[in-house]
Amino acid sequence: MRDVIANRPIRKNADRMPVKPNMSNYERERLGFSWAAAAKGLAGLPNGGINIAHEAVERHLDTAVAGRVALRWLSMSGEVRDFTYRDLSDQSNRVAHMLLQLGVAKGDRVFTLLGRVPELYLTALGAWKLGAVFCPLFSAFGPEPVHQRITRGDGKILVTSARLYRRRVLPIRDRLPSLEHILLVDVDTDEPGIHPFHALLANADDTPMMAQTRPEDMAILHFTSGTTGMPKGAVHVHEAVVAHNVTGRYALDLHPDDVFWCTADPGWVTGTSYGIISPLTVGVTNIIDESEFDAEHWYQTLQDQRVTVWYTAPTAIRMLMKAGPELPKRYDLSALRFIASVGEPLNPEAVIWGNEVLGLPIHDNWWQTETGGIMIANFASTDIRPGSMGLPLPGITAAIMQRRDDGTLREAIEGEEGELALRPGWPSMFRGYLYEEERYRKAFADGWYLTGDLARRDGDGYFWFVGRADDIIKSAGHLIGPFEVESALIEHEAVAEAAVIGKPDPVAGEIVKAFVALNPGFEATEAMERDLRGFARKRLGPAVAPREIEILETLPRTRSGKIMRRLLKARELGLPEGDTSTLERM
Ligand code: ATP
Ligand code: MG
Repeated sequence: MRDVIANRPIRKNADRMPVKPNMSNYERERLGFSWAAAAKGLAGLPNGGINIAHEAVERHLDTAVAGRVALRWLSMSGEVRDFTYRDLSDQSNRVAHMLLQLGVAKGDRVFTLLGRVPELYLTALGAWKLGAVFCPLFSAFGPEPVHQRITRGDGKILVTSARLYRRRVLPIRDRLPSLEHILLVDVDTDEPGIHPFHALLANADDTPMMAQTRPEDMAILHFTSGTTGMPKGAVHVHEAVVAHNVTGRYALDLHPDDVFWCTADPGWVTGTSYGIISPLTVGVTNIIDESEFDAEHWYQTLQDQRVTVWYTAPTAIRMLMKAGPELPKRYDLSALRFIASVGEPLNPEAVIWGNEVLGLPIHDNWWQTETGGIMIANFASTDIRPGSMGLPLPGITAAIMQRRDDGTLREAIEGEEGELALRPGWPSMFRGYLYEEERYRKAFADGWYLTGDLARRDGDGYFWFVGRADDIIKSAGHLIGPFEVESALIEHEAVAEAAVIGKPDPVAGEIVKAFVALNPGFEATEAMERDLRGFARKRLGPAVAPREIEILETLPRTRSGKIMRRLLKARELGLPEGDTSTLERM
């Protein structure tokens, strides 16, 4: 099935596009590319230093970009607040001085536990200006996940709100020995260790500050999504900004006059790399929407803000699909010219839906917390093969690797499945799992970084996601990737979402079991299950089609929107659920 759709690529013609893509010829760009030359495109600091805040904000100050809206904040209550690049510079200088006054030094960890509010963005920039490390936590984390991350990350400062403090921090306050100060963004109380963010900011020195950070200085600590187990703390450095800039221009086709909306929360890597850093380095207007997902509200935002480039996730796209094809017709989405998606495999069905319903295909791209930036992508100027993650970025060498019996690696042949591997050396590559040296070391072999994802590459160099190494199903001698099965099920009109696991079986080793959530208007009956089984068998054949299908109200997902197959499997087998700190509670 997938190959049938794949045989119908979505063709591109760069010459006929209203805005000339940053990369009009993939092969040529790839050949001519070097990271050293890319770094020269940024400002840098004296003596080879580099600082993310300098590249994102300060370097624009003596250009026409200075007065442009850098952040447009859409509050939950409907308020709109604009910050120009100059405003961001001034206010983040104050944040840096405020942190300095509180005793924050280079390398100290500054945590945020905030929704998408301006203070989060100002804190990130202020921390970098001071040479401190920015560690964003997703605002919906409960007390234990917050505790775990702040202690593992040696948090010294936490910026949060009064409500989140009361609910998420107070219960664990006496178990946070490293935490010296808490700043509340929305109240004026001043008690030992708890300070009013805005009152301190108003009194802070506003003279420019810029730590002379080196390329290898730690800048960001990000915890992974916890899809496959306990979240890992990935360390990123200031030099990463070179990759944020380059990949934003190539894979998201960002131009300085764009209005860009990245829907990811900065509690996850996408919301920082592409919700803060990348767009600011390019000089665009960056939309920050405080509200949660709502189909009508999203279309309204795309229309009212005249968003030109939109970066979102498969879950959101599937929810928009669920809301129906009529809804977007009520909105004027004519400003939109490029849509991209990341975080999970994007089913071919969704790519085609974009093309048919929104008038634009959705460009899937692949990366992970560890890679810090986009590694494989469908570009504005390259043909899309629906279901494929696309081609490696200029400057990135990707390969499919298999292990020989003696443990060494060999490169897979065309079309063969294996582990997706990357040649280390790009600037936003993580520099370690915090305090997990052994785990970090194990991620490398024979000069490759092994990603933990399985994929294959076709004859034209396009990469196809097969599944996470942990999720691969071995059934009667076949290796089955869940993505293929899920994508087939989603083609059924009743299915909104699908997740597939391997269920132990005495004869086959494992059998394929699918969990599905239905679209509105369809009922979970035995007849429906039978119909779905028959549908899948016709598409996939009996060896690959799910033997069992179970209909659920919703599928368990991480707060960053990824389906948690390991949880479905644990529940199915009656095993402990493991770390569920990132599980979204419905
Ligand atoms: P953990 O490592 O804690 O289990 P996680 O891997 O989900 O969590 P992230 O770093 O947020 O944490 O997610 C990266 C992973 O998401 C990738 O390794 C891959 O499995 C999946 N992913 C991201 N983009 C895509 C994509 N376009 N297609 C398929 N899978 C994707
Ligand atoms: Mg991972």
